[in-house]
Amino acid sequence: MFQHQPIEQKKVKVETFDKTLQVIHSKKEVSKMERFVAIWLKRDFRLHDNHALFKTIEYCKQTNSKWVMFVHLTKEQLTRHTFENEYYLYTIAQFKKRMETNQMTVHLLSGSEEDVITSLKKSYPTLSHIYTNTNEVGDEALREERLKTAAITQGISFYSLLDSHLHYANEVKKKDGTFYKVYTPYYKMWRTLKKPSIYKCNHAEIKFYAHVAPPMDVKTETLFYTFLNEIKKITFPVGEEKAVQLFQQFLKEDLPTYSKKRNEPYWDATSHMSPFLKVGAISVRSMYHVVKQVLDETGSKEAEAFIKELAWREFFQMIYYYYPHSAEEEVQEKYRQLKWKRDEEQFERWKEGKTGFPFVDAGMRQLKEEGWMHNRLRMVVASFLTKDYLLDWRLGEKYFKEMLIDYEPSQNIGNWQWAASVGMDAVPYFRIFNPITQGEKFDKSGEYIRKYVKELQDVDVTYLHTPFKMSKSEQKKSSCTIGIDYPYPTVNHKVQREKALAFYRFELC
Ligand code: FAD
Repeated sequence: MFQHQPIEQKKVKVETFDKTLQVIHSKKEVSKMERFVAIWLKRDFRLHDNHALFKTIEYCKQTNSKWVMFVHLTKEQLTRHTFENEYYLYTIAQFKKRMETNQMTVHLLSGSEEDVITSLKKSYPTLSHIYTNTNEVGDEALREERLKTAAITQGISFYSLLDSHLHYANEVKKKDGTFYKVYTPYYKMWRTLKKPSIYKCNHAEIKFYAHVAPPMDVKTETLFYTFLNEIKKITFPVGEEKAVQLFQQFLKEDLPTYSKKRNEPYWDATSHMSPFLKVGAISVRSMYHVVKQVLDETGSKEAEAFIKELAWREFFQMIYYYYPHSAEEEVQEKYRQLKWKRDEEQFERWKEGKTGFPFVDAGMRQLKEEGWMHNRLRMVVASFLTKDYLLDWRLGEKYFKEMLIDYEPSQNIGNWQWAASVGMDAVPYFRIFNPITQGEKFDKSGEYIRKYVKELQDVDVTYLHTPFKMSKSEQKKSSCTIGIDYPYPTVNHKVQREKALAFYRFELC
């Protein structure tokens, strides 16, 4: 399923996308007799194991139709320069270029959903079906509903299929038909349910049934390439080939030690699949089946630990499905009355990685530089914001939304509510991470801190997690004056811990 390929660096250079790409095809008239089926790509930019693409080709084979592929972009997507959106558009560009190089067309359309259907109908009057991979939650689910309505209204059949997850959000249920509110029993049920098989897409067939055409919407394509050429750097590998290579590398090098090393950020030994999963450059089905095979053949605990993480992804998707307002509202009703602090200065310090707690600061600086943060750090910085600074978890969730390359509403909201102890099956409020001992435990040698907090680079490991304990001569020796080059701790963790306990018990006014 996954092929071996040479491994490349994680960072990629920004490529210049040339507008002339759009016109490589000769103009082809659409014959009145030709039949068409469309595939709407949203978060499935790949040719392997793509459910909607598979069904589209099946349909083409049965009816001798041609397929046309389109992406719908909003005005906001064509202008928002965040890591996540740039990565998304860059992925589309790379996929489009790859398709066009192979004489296949990807149309970029914008405007309302009705506009999209009207222009498809205008260009392809015999268009009868649209296939897409479903997006079940958030704004994307609403967009899908609108496009479906517009299609059906104009006489086009609309099929949306399960692809980005292994189960529909409302599929994993208790025996009494209600949904799970605790992860462990959810997982026990989830793992017993049959998983969808792989949809093997045949490249030659995909190409055979492609309708090659010039762009339908030149204005949108121009805006798209203008946006792309404004991108300064892409900090993460892009596209299906890279995703498959990196996953292959992970299986070989890091899966065997996953449960230990996944907690130590310096190793950077997790799969890094979340950005690819977000845009669908890799199939979660294929990932699951290959790791499940390792589990079945070897009984490997490491393989099971990895599968459990995929199940967390599905758990949070389910929670967001049932709690669509959870970006703003705590899932646990009893915590909706908490009076979170608002302190601009502390919030800025947290964002800039200047809290005076090196492990927290390293995580926040990694996020700012790379749009990425290791999971251990995501948990630690989220705990710090909410339980040491007592700042509103919504501020953190929104900042991550702006900054994370793998930003995904269901995962981000679910995890933030988890860390702030206000969500479904969240960490209990009295389990408060100590930002110093977390660093000592998970970054023993301090290499992760040294990488991101440059002013602590020469500090001896004895003081790396507590630089404020250095004597004046030690500060001089390590070229780091506390209070000038690096801040004193901005809060006393012990004191804040007590405050947080009182806060969650509603004893603080
Ligand atoms: P691996 O360890 O290799 O795990 C494999 C896959 O399992 C991941 O790609 C991911 O899809 C899933 N997974 C792993 N950990 C979690 C988890 N805690 N919750 C749900 N699924 C998980 N993940 C996102 O994809 N988007 C987000 O916006 C996001 N925001 C987060 C915010 C906070 C405060 C926290 C604590 C976690 C957040 N996560 C988010 C979850 C997790 O940090 C990332 O999925 C993980 O770090 C991605 O790295 P990886 O692919 O190497 O993970």
